Amino acid sequence: MQALVVRPGEPGAAVREMPDPLPEPDQVLLRPLEVGVCGTDREIADGLFGIAPPGEERLILGHEVLARVVRDAHGFARDELVCATVRRSCGHCAPCAAGAPDACATGDYSEHGITRLHGFAAEQAVVGAEHLVRVPAALGRLGVLAEPASICARALRHVTTIGERQPWRPARALVLGAGAIGMLTTYFLRLDDRDVWAAALDPPGSEKAELVAACGARYVAAAESSPAALAAEVGGFDIVIVAAGNAQLSLDAVGLLRRSGVACLLGIDGRDQTISLPGTVLALDAVIENRVVFGSVNANIVDWHAAVERLTAARERWPDALERFVGLRAGLDEYAAAFDFGGVKATLTL
Ligand code: BGC
Repeated sequence: MQALVVRPGEPGAAVREMPDPLPEPDQVLLRPLEVGVCGTDREIADGLFGIAPPGEERLILGHEVLARVVRDAHGFARDELVCATVRRSCGHCAPCAAGAPDACATGDYSEHGITRLHGFAAEQAVVGAEHLVRVPAALGRLGVLAEPASICARALRHVTTIGERQPWRPARALVLGAGAIGMLTTYFLRLDDRDVWAAALDPPGSEKAELVAACGARYVAAAESSPAALAAEVGGFDIVIVAAGNAQLSLDAVGLLRRSGVACLLGIDGRDQTISLPGTVLALDAVIENRVVFGSVNANIVDWHAAVERLTAARERWPDALERFVGLRAGLDEYAAAFDFGGVKATLTL
C-alpha cells in the first residue's frame, strides 16, 4: 500500500510502498479517507521528533484520521465512518490501567503516527475496536477534525473540573491562537454560551478573523491590541486557552485571568530560552485571586465522544463556517502543500 513515511530523526517525508497491515483478532481493518496535518507532523517531518515501530526504520505519519470500516468486525459495520484515538497504554502505570493513557504516569505510551505505532496516512490501517469512535453521517468528512477537537474537549473538561473545585460561574474566555485547536476551542466555548475573544497574528478581515466572527466570538489582531491590554479593558478572563506555541505567551496567561480564573496551556514551544513575568503577578495576584494555570495534552476516549458530539452540534449551528475549517485537501503526493498550509486545517485525502 502507499503511505506517507519518515525516517524518524532525519528531515524529509516521502510517499512509499509499505506492507499492508494485518489485523490482529481484536482489530478492525480501516480504509483512511482523510488525514489532518498538524504541527506535530511538521516536527516529525523535520526530523525533530518521532519514533518508528520496534524493529522498523520508517514511521507512517498521520494521527488525525477519518476512515471507513473495510468489513464488519467487532460491532462495526462495513462502510461505517470512524475516527481512531491516538495514544495507547504504556502497560505499566495506574492511569493507563484505568483507561486514561492521556494521563500516563510513565511517558512510555505509544502514539499512532508519532511514537512506536504507524499512523494513518496510508491506504490501510488497523486499530483495536475499543479505540474507534463512530462519526455520524451528519458530521461526514468533518469527522477528520475529531482529533484536534478531542484535545479541546479534554482541555475544557479539565478547565471545568478545576474551576468548579469552588463556586464558579465563568462568563468571559480568551483564546490565544487561531489554528485548529484555537479555532475549535473558540467554537466549543461559544456552544457553551461564553463571551469569547480570540487573538491571533492574522490581520482583521482575514479568513481566520472571519471564522472567529462567524460563531459570535470577537477577533483581536495581535498588531492592534495585546492580550494584556484586552484583559485590562474587559476586567480579566475566567478562562484563558493558550493555543499558540509561544512560551512567553503561556506564562503571561496567569496575568490575564480574573478572580478564580483558569488558564489551560495547549501550545508547545521547544525553544531554549528564558522568559519572565513580574513577580507580583504570580506571587501576589495569582494567590490572592485563586487563579490556576495548567497544561494539557492528548485526550481520553470520553473526550473523543464529546468532540464528535460538539463538532456535530457546531456544524448544525454554523454549517458554512465549519465547512471552511478544512481549507486545503491535498492528495498524498501533495503532502508538501499540506505541510505549508497556513489556514486552520489542511488534510491529505486518500
Ligand atoms: C497530538 C496528541 C499527542 C501529542 C504529543 C499532538 O499533536 O494531538 O494526541 O499526545 O501531539 O505527541
